[in-house]
Amino acid sequence: MRKVNKYYGTFHALRDVDLDIPPGKVTCLIGPSGSGKSTLLRCLNFLEDYDSGEVRIDDQLIGYETPGGRRMSARRLREMRRDIGMVFQQFNLWPHMTALQNVAEGLERVRGFSRPEAEVRAREALAKVGLADKEANHPSRLSGGQQQRVAIARAIAMQPRIMLFDEPTSALDPELVGEVLGVMKQLASEGMTMVVVTHEMGFAAHVADRVVFMERGEIVAVGSPREVFHDA
Ligand code: ADP
Ligand code: ADP
Repeated sequence: MRKVNKYYGTFHALRDVDLDIPPGKVTCLIGPSGSGKSTLLRCLNFLEDYDSGEVRIDDQLIGYETPGGRRMSARRLREMRRDIGMVFQQFNLWPHMTALQNVAEGLERVRGFSRPEAEVRAREALAKVGLADKEANHPSRLSGGQQQRVAIARAIAMQPRIMLFDEPTSALDPELVGEVLGVMKQLASEGMTMVVVTHEMGFAAHVADRVVFMERGEIVAVGSPREVFHDA
């Protein structure tokens, strides 16, 4: 991100944000509520349109045809977002589908796999998050932690180049947080590029390669966990 600014009406939510996200690493965004973490994350896949500056993944500009120019077509935006997995605080699973169907659906519809091929890949993704034995369960028959792991499986099954997590454990009962962080930690150890908005300081301190501390729409500290937490 280069000099990114975002306004909600007159409220200045992101102020000249410059940020590099290292590939193959975990970047954690931390800071007080309302400091702009989620806004920053959502600018990365243009769920939020920024007002000025540039967001690029590799060399590809996100959201606009040219810096400050016209918005991308919805079609180009969809193509671009195929490479970006996103996991939200709310799990957003389809309640009428099983865990397997939830994961297979996008593989079939977006990636164009045949149903059998989509299911093979969906099973692999579910196994990866430790839910091989729950594929036939509907979300109502899964714990919150299991539902969030299905949501992660759904995102990683698409083989994204980068994964964005927006407070993925905030809606969970405390005893279920660890299983979701554990899956994220495993993904990190496999070299997935991850950007994580979180209040889990243990995760930021122990799993992040880089910690970004935000306040009032600005990045006020960035560095290794040691650097950022030592200065804080
Ligand atoms: P954080 O993720 O750090 O809690 P957010 O990025 O969600 O912060 O929000 C940053 C600021 O922008 C907050 O003050 C919030 O109230 C405001 N904000 C977020 N979304 C909107 C919106 N859609 N309309 C108006 N203000 C918003
Ligand atoms: P602290 O209480 O010291 O802040 P945490 O309880 O958050 O530490 O956890 C310490 C580290 O272990 C963090 O990196 C966290 O992500 C990781 N962790 C916590 N629970 C699990 C789990 N069940 N499986 C794998 N890693 C976990």
